[in-house]
Amino acid sequence: MHKFRRFTLIALVLALLLLSGCGRETAAAGGFAGVGGRARELTEEETAAARERVEAQLGLLAGQVTEEEFDACLDLMEQLWPLRQERLDKDKWEKSTQEQRLVDKLNGLYEEYTVRYIGDGGTWGYGYPEERTLAVFDITSSGAIVRSQTQPSQDSGREEYTEADFQLLWDQMTAMLPEDAWEDFVRFTVFTDGENETLAYVRQADNTGEKWEIAVDPADAGDGQMFVETVLHEYSHYLTLNDGQVKYTTRQTASTYNELGMVCREGSYLDDFYQRFWTGYLDDRLSDMDTYNFFLRHEDDFVTDYASSSPSEDIAESFTYFVLQDKPREGDAVWEQKLNFFFAYPEMVSLRSDIRTCLGLS
Ligand SMILES: [Zn+2]
Repeated sequence: MHKFRRFTLIALVLALLLLSGCGRETAAAGGFAGVGGRARELTEEETAAARERVEAQLGLLAGQVTEEEFDACLDLMEQLWPLRQERLDKDKWEKSTQEQRLVDKLNGLYEEYTVRYIGDGGTWGYGYPEERTLAVFDITSSGAIVRSQTQPSQDSGREEYTEADFQLLWDQMTAMLPEDAWEDFVRFTVFTDGENETLAYVRQADNTGEKWEIAVDPADAGDGQMFVETVLHEYSHYLTLNDGQVKYTTRQTASTYNELGMVCREGSYLDDFYQRFWTGYLDDRLSDMDTYNFFLRHEDDFVTDYASSSPSEDIAESFTYFVLQDKPREGDAVWEQKLNFFFAYPEMVSLRSDIRTCLGLS
């Protein structure tokens, strides 16, 4: 539910798959010798690290699988390790065919074990409801909204809402955050895709991520709690994906967290979050974006199931509850550490307190 909203996320995954498909030919032509075998012997440290990585990826399964099942994973991980290391040494983001194949095989084992020991969560079951734009507004420098020159063509459904409804939506949203919080937003779009689908999203209004757009569906805005959570979630995408935090580029790297077309800057919130919480199992997550079983294997790591869909969704969900929860979490579960993560940033603590004042929570 941000610029990579659920269905856009799928498009991203497809793009990734296509990309790795392209790489497949090239890599195969390169004729790597390690297919089915070990590219080289691992050092003792590497073997220990590979074992640790398998444990991280097994998550809640780690104490349940048999020794044989564990060893099957470890064998694949040990084959994978040198390929991965070689790629990282070159600061390369795209995996070779061989590496991807091994990641997928490992994921297959984790999926099989999850079904065996925890149960089958199935898939997310993303839908693709038709979306209609109802109105487009420019946001002026003083924070008012005026009808943009570009408007959707006349269609059915627009008459359900009045200009006052649109204004009220904007007022509700802006009232939730301190006044200057919206200064990088230049467009407010009202759309609908029916009830109980996408409530809101944000996306860049330019190529660099300096200016932003927020879009809201009035059909879903009636549930106050859900509305607040969603607006905070979307706003945190802006906080973590703006031009000061990330770079939109086709030059992918491996040293910080990347998504297709996006590279995190060093020291950015999202990269810090990724380095602390996600390096162990991102590859496994990406191997099958549609499975719900990844969440089941790592249930204690995520504040909501949706947070398990990617590091950027995870940081957005964690930020939302960092703001809404009364005080820092005292437990040591990973999901609690994720909420507390933001307390290390004084500007986040101050933003939290301002938002809580706006929401009447303090
Ligand atoms: Zn989101």
